[in-house]
Amino acid sequence: MFKKFFALFICIVFCLSLVACKGDLPTIEIPSEPSSQVEYLPQSSSEPESSEEETSSEAVEEDDSWKMVLVNGWHPLEEGFMPDLTQIDTRFANEGYKFDSRAIEDLNAMCQAALKDGVKLWVISPWRRNSTQTANFNAQVQRVLANNPSFSKEQAEDEAATVVARPWTSEHQLGLAIDFNSVEESFENTAQFRWLSEHAQDYGFIMRYPKSKEAITGVIYEPWHYRYVGPENAKAIKASGLCLEEYLEKYK
Ligand SMILES: [Zn+2]
Repeated sequence: MFKKFFALFICIVFCLSLVACKGDLPTIEIPSEPSSQVEYLPQSSSEPESSEEETSSEAVEEDDSWKMVLVNGWHPLEEGFMPDLTQIDTRFANEGYKFDSRAIEDLNAMCQAALKDGVKLWVISPWRRNSTQTANFNAQVQRVLANNPSFSKEQAEDEAATVVARPWTSEHQLGLAIDFNSVEESFENTAQFRWLSEHAQDYGFIMRYPKSKEAITGVIYEPWHYRYVGPENAKAIKASGLCLEEYLEKYK
């Protein structure tokens, strides 16, 4: 008899525990909801992937735009602008001379190709920090004032800016401009200039301040100053016969 009661008791306890488990089911279902979300995860994670692809294709387009950034007297850089820089191959530049990391390979390759043709390109002015640009500009203002004592400070600065860019308006601060070998107009009579005239565009460089474009660039003829715009742009700009300002105005 006692055994029957005990068995019944065990049976009741078992049934109660089952009911209790069923009662718990909703709380079990709650964690099952997130797990059903987990099932969606591959889908939702594929969305970020596709949007990442979109982002990266956008990034590629953005990547291209840095090559054509216009910096001149009317389009200054943001103060404090600092490109990512890499040391230029020391066969072609002094230690500490740097250039935009995204274009450094093309610069080194161009200098290497020239060397192979027996032409030694030498970087005399690469990326420039603002303190240097400011010092250069102030020194040029003093030279102008020395030659033109009647000039006001403003007049002297305006004239100085056609030779040395004002702080934050130099492509050298952008990190995409190089002065080669000599900052004399006679550079146009050198083997280096002839080589650059023939090949620079293949490596993404243009002579940035051509003769007869002074009024548009705001800068004197500088056969030694080359600007990186990427091979595709450089070839198109060279073929157009336009300076960068004109080209951007017409095609961008
Ligand atoms: Zn220059």
